[in-house]
Amino acid sequence: MFSKILIANRGEIACRIIKTAKKIGILTVAVYSDADKDSLHVHMADEAVYLGASPSRESYLVIEKVIAAAKKTGAQAIHPGYGFLSENADFCRACQQENITFIGPPVAAIEAMGSKSAAKNIMAEANVPLVPGYHGDDQNEQTLKQAADDMGYPVLLKATAGGGGKGMRQVWNEAEFSEGFAAAKREAMSSFGDDTMLVEKYLTQPRHVEIQVFCDNHQNAVYLFERDCSVQRRHQKVIEEAPAFSMSEFLRSKMGETAIKSAQAIGYQGAGTVEFLLDVDGSFYFMEMNTRLQVEHPVTEMISGQDLVEWQLRVAAGEKLPKTQEELTITGHSFEARIYAEDPSNDFLPATGQLNLLKTPLESKHVRIDTGVRQGDEVSVFYDPMIAKLIVWDENRDKALQRLAKALREYRIDGVTTNIEFLYNLATTDAFKNADIDTSFIEKNHQAIFHQADEKQHDELLTKQLPTAALYIVLALTNKNKEQAALSNDRHSPWHMTNAWRLNEPHNHSLTLAYNDIDYAITIEQKRQASAVYYQITISDAGTTSHTVDCQGEIEGENITVTIDGHRSQSIVAHHENSISLYQEHGVFSFSHILPDHGENQDDDNHGGLMAPMNGTMVSVLVTPGEHVSKDQPLVIMEAMKMEHTIKAPSDGVVNEVFFSAGDMVNGGAELLDFSTLATSKSEEA
Ligand code: ADP
Repeated sequence: MFSKILIANRGEIACRIIKTAKKIGILTVAVYSDADKDSLHVHMADEAVYLGASPSRESYLVIEKVIAAAKKTGAQAIHPGYGFLSENADFCRACQQENITFIGPPVAAIEAMGSKSAAKNIMAEANVPLVPGYHGDDQNEQTLKQAADDMGYPVLLKATAGGGGKGMRQVWNEAEFSEGFAAAKREAMSSFGDDTMLVEKYLTQPRHVEIQVFCDNHQNAVYLFERDCSVQRRHQKVIEEAPAFSMSEFLRSKMGETAIKSAQAIGYQGAGTVEFLLDVDGSFYFMEMNTRLQVEHPVTEMISGQDLVEWQLRVAAGEKLPKTQEELTITGHSFEARIYAEDPSNDFLPATGQLNLLKTPLESKHVRIDTGVRQGDEVSVFYDPMIAKLIVWDENRDKALQRLAKALREYRIDGVTTNIEFLYNLATTDAFKNADIDTSFIEKNHQAIFHQADEKQHDELLTKQLPTAALYIVLALTNKNKEQAALSNDRHSPWHMTNAWRLNEPHNHSLTLAYNDIDYAITIEQKRQASAVYYQITISDAGTTSHTVDCQGEIEGENITVTIDGHRSQSIVAHHENSISLYQEHGVFSFSHILPDHGENQDDDNHGGLMAPMNGTMVSVLVTPGEHVSKDQPLVIMEAMKMEHTIKAPSDGVVNEVFFSAGDMVNGGAELLDFSTLATSKSEEA
C-alpha cells in the first residue's frame, strides 16, 4: 500500500478522499489555487502544494504542475477525484511516465470511452445492448436519415464527441429530420470542433440507471448494484438513490453482469460506472461508461457498507478486490441530494457569495454530509458551485425519504442563494414519493416543485401561508417583548404588555411580506372574544384584492401551530434576519419581510457592470451597445459546467458596451457589459 498520495482535486471530493486515506494511515498531499489557499481540503491534508492562479486552467488542470507537486512531495500515487483531470488520458499517461500510480483505469480504457460512437462500437462487439441506432463513419445525411426512417420516429441525434447534452436533438418525424440534423451539427461544431453525428431511437420515458463496477488486476470484477439518477435538470443529476426502485433481482443481476461485460471489454481496472437507459418495458441500453469515481458514489457506500475510495486505493496498489460478488449485499435505501449555490427560479444560474450562515443537520448513521466548505467560506466564481452532498440512509425508501425531507428542512444557509428549497419541494411531491419518476421528472412536475400559482395555490397562499408567516412575526415579537419584560425592573409597565394594548394607536400591526417578488401588505389586528385572543389578518396584493382570515396560533421553538377557520395545522419555521421560510408537508414557502425604507438604503448609483457569475465561455451576445432593454430580458448566454446560463437585465435600462464576443473565454467575476438603469424609475420615486 502507498504511504503518501496526492489528491489532484479540491472541495468535497478532495476532503472525501483525505478522510479514507487518514483512516487507513496514508499521508495526503493537497494541491490548491489562489482562491483555495484557506480551504478545508488544504487544512485537512498533511501537506499542500500551491499550483497557481484561481482559474482551473491555470492551476488544477495544468498536468505538469500537478506532476511536479507529486514529485516534490514524494507522493507515490495520484487520486484525480472526479472532473478536472480524472478522465484525461494524457494525464494518466504523464503519471505512468513519471512512475506515479494513477488511481484509476489504464490509459487505453479512458481512450476507448472518449468517443460515443467508438464506445458504442466496442460495446456492440461485446454484445452489450445499445439503443437501436446508427453510429457509423458514413456521415451522409441520407444515410443517417435512412437509419432514422428504418427504426421509426422519434429519434435522437447526438454528437459523437458530445457531453453535457450538447449537440443533441430530438427529431419527432421525417419532415423535421433535415432541420434537426443541421442544427445538431452546428451546435456540435461550435462546442466540440467536431460535427460527427450518430442517430438512435429516442426513448420517451426512460430512467437513468447506472451500475457501479469494480475490477482489479487479478481478473476479478464485481458490481456494487445500481443507482437511479433519473431526476435531472438539463441532463445533470440532482437527486440520486440506491437501490433503484422497482428493480427485480433478475433485472438487477442482468444489468450488473452486462456492466461487468462492458468493463471487461475495455480491459478496465478500478472503479467505473456503466450508465444505462432503462425503458418502461424493462429493456435497458448502454449509454456510456464513466471511467472514474462518481459524485453520487456515497449512496452505493451507504447500502453496501463498503468504502469505495478504500477499494480504489487497494486496487491501485495491486491488491485484490476486498469482496466477492457473493459477499456483497444491499441493506436499506439511500438518497443523495446535491446542494448547490444556484438559483432554481432563474434557470439554475450558479450563485456566488459568502456562506454567512451554514447550519447542517447532525450527522449520524442516517445522515452523512460530504462537503468542502465551512461557515464563512466563499463560494467563488471559479469552480463548480456545489456546496455539499446530503446523503441519508434508512431501512426502506419511505423512511429514507422522510429522513431526506427532515434533513433538508434542517439545512440552513444564508449569504448565498441555494437550491435547498427546490430540493425539499421536489422530494415532497407525491410523484417522487410514489417513485413515478423518469428523466423528465422535473419538467413533468414543474408546477408542484416551483409552486406555480394556479388558482388553488394562490388561494392557499392568501388564506394559509401568508397569514401563518405574518402571525409568526407578530408572535415572535410578542415573545421577545415578554422576555424583555421578564428582565426589566418594572414587569408591569404597559410598555411590556403583550396584548393588544397600544398608546394612542389602534391594536394593529402592519407589515409587508414579499413572495416570488410580489409584495403583500398585511394588517394584523389582535382581538378578543370572551377570554380568547385571536387575530384578524387582512392581506392585500398590489391593491387589487384583499382577503381577511381569523386565526389563532402559538409558537414553540421552530414550530408554529395555527388554526384558521377551524383548521389546525403546523409548520416548521426557519427565520433568519428578514427571511422566513415555512416548511410544510408539500414544500416550503419563503417570504422576505420588507422593512420600511427610511432612505438610508438608497443606492444612487444607477450605472454599473454585470459580472460573469462563473468561469466559462461566451456562447452568444443578444444585445448591441446602445440598446434599451427591459427587466429580465436575456442579455448574453454563457456556458459553464456543461450548462448554458442566460444573464438577464437586472432592471429596465440601457446597454452601453459589451466587453466579450461569442467564443471568448470569460473568467468568473469579469465585467461582461456596462449597463445603466433607466433614470425614469428614479424620477418617479422622487
Ligand atoms: P451527454 O454525454 O451529452 O451527457 P448522454 O448520452 O450521457 O449525453 O445522455 C444524457 C441524458 O440524455 C441521459 O441521462 C438521458 O436522460 C438522455 N438520453 C440520452 N440518450 C437518450 C435516448 N436515446 N432516449 C432518451 N433519452 C436519452
